[in-house]
Amino acid sequence: MEFTINGTCIVVLQGDITKQDTEAIVNAANSSLLGGGGVDGAIHRTGGPQILAECKQIRAKQGGCPTGEAVITSGGNLAAKYVIHTVGPVWRGGSNDEARLLRNAYWNSLNLANEKGIRSIAFPSISTGAYRFPIVEAAQIAVKTVLDFVVEKRIPEEIRFVLFNDRDLRIYQKTWEQNLRSNI
Ligand code: ADP
Repeated sequence: MEFTINGTCIVVLQGDITKQDTEAIVNAANSSLLGGGGVDGAIHRTGGPQILAECKQIRAKQGGCPTGEAVITSGGNLAAKYVIHTVGPVWRGGSNDEARLLRNAYWNSLNLANEKGIRSIAFPSISTGAYRFPIVEAAQIAVKTVLDFVVEKRIPEEIRFVLFNDRDLRIYQKTWEQNLRSNI
């Protein structure tokens, strides 16, 4: 699925985040910035040791990355030039600020990309793996946050949502359709 809002091309597809040729890809990292499973493991495996070395430098400077914030490294051996590492919230039932923190993760990733002049960025489904955020709610937050950002800032040129399986893809597609209908 592909469409344009306010000059930004939005693409929703099934695939592997590490294979994306956008200028930046987003890592669903953890606060330690030392790597993990899921998206994080795949990015470090494919991108090579350079990314972890830069994460360690960031850790030495600021002691990791708080939930909802984002930091940037190079892309190492990836096709993407940059990796934006953001930390989504762990789902703890929904009344522990999870929604706001997930919104922050998307918003702050986009803001950081903007500060670096990055023109295209690919997101995985942050927090819906090991962090157990229910995907329907997470998709709604992801879509709404990206919509708000694009309407307010009119950048970047392309935002890609890369879903790992067919079910997640359908949920994100449906969420976009619903939000577009109610915004037009
Ligand atoms: P979190 O810890 O934020 O929940 P995970 O990496 O565990 O992050 O999972 C986030 C989502 O990314 C899950 O839906 C998972 O299926 C998906 N995922 C795992 N590997 C990849 C990959 N290589 N590319 C895209 N999505 C992936």
